[in-house]
Amino acid sequence: PVLRVAIMGLGGYGTRVAEAMQSSKMAKLVGVISGTPSKIKDWQSKYKIPEKNCYNYENFDQIKNNADIDAVYVITPNALHHDQVIRVAKAGKHVICEKPMAINAKEGQEMVDACKKANVKLLVGYRMHFEPHTLEIVRMRKAGELGKITFFQGLSGFKIGDPSQWRMNKQLAGGGSMMDIGIYAINGSRYMVGEEPIWVTAQETKTDPQKFKEGVDETITFQLGFPGGAVASCLSSYNINNLDRFFLTGDNGFAELFPATGYGPIKGRTHKGELNQPIVTHQTVQMDEMAAIILQGKQPIVPVDGEEGLKDLKIIDAIYAAVKSGKKENLKL
Ligand code: NAD
Repeated sequence: PVLRVAIMGLGGYGTRVAEAMQSSKMAKLVGVISGTPSKIKDWQSKYKIPEKNCYNYENFDQIKNNADIDAVYVITPNALHHDQVIRVAKAGKHVICEKPMAINAKEGQEMVDACKKANVKLLVGYRMHFEPHTLEIVRMRKAGELGKITFFQGLSGFKIGDPSQWRMNKQLAGGGSMMDIGIYAINGSRYMVGEEPIWVTAQETKTDPQKFKEGVDETITFQLGFPGGAVASCLSSYNINNLDRFFLTGDNGFAELFPATGYGPIKGRTHKGELNQPIVTHQTVQMDEMAAIILQGKQPIVPVDGEEGLKDLKIIDAIYAAVKSGKKENLKL
């Protein structure tokens, strides 16, 4: 059996996921949810989607009566995820939700609870959690090949363009670069170090308050402390290019990914030499693996469930709190 998926939000990333799903053996695009009738028409003819599997933002609760859709993949602006995921759960369908799962931990908790109550699975669109170079480093670290882990560095950023886009609007984005790209360094630190952080400190720099309005972070540097003594030093930015690098070191070895999270080929090396894992289309592998998680109860190497998304939101809340307080914020994940 294949996972029959409807995509909600037919924008830039929804389009990329739809294309990648065409090569998935385990997941099939069968439905759409959109507020734009012309996009629905285009997708219907492109992907042979029947009329009865097309919905808009007003009527998609009716998906509960549609036996031909197993899961909805929510790919809309961040602040909309909370209500949309809860409505999908109430319709009795599994949910895949894009990152960030929500705009704060309180909303994230409500989503986790709603999906538990409805007895549906909630997964977060963390594509790097299935990427072969990434997983090889996780394997090496678990096997002890790096020795005791002492330090992680995660650099995540790019120079954002058009200031009128939803990513620059606090109401829709929930924040700035941290919500969008900094989250890669956050969850990267967790699966690379292999522990949950117990404290965070953070500092914000804003060079352009005209472009980056109140509540929309331009650049934040942040540090995480782990129970085993490792520290992480990370950077999230909407105003620095070529910022996509992970570095992990331990007493016996190191690993580097550069680029670490972009769509293109991931490149990496360790103290043992170049990594030569297969180059994959992230979203194709992600959909195959997520279908196996939902349909077969497969356990992923790095978790991608709602609880995992919630941990990252708790860290984001703590980072914003630390920026405000200027103090170390303790974390309990
Ligand atoms: P986008 O602007 O290209 O698309 C967003 C879509 O949502 C558009 O089709 C828009 O019409 C629709 N939409 C519905 N209600 C809307 C509203 N009230 N206001 C504005 N748009 C509305 O954005 P995107 O790049 O596709 O990002 C969507 C989500 O996917 C975000 O949560 C983002 O973080 C996530 N994303 C994840 C990755 C990844 O690699 N995992 C990459 C890109 C984006």
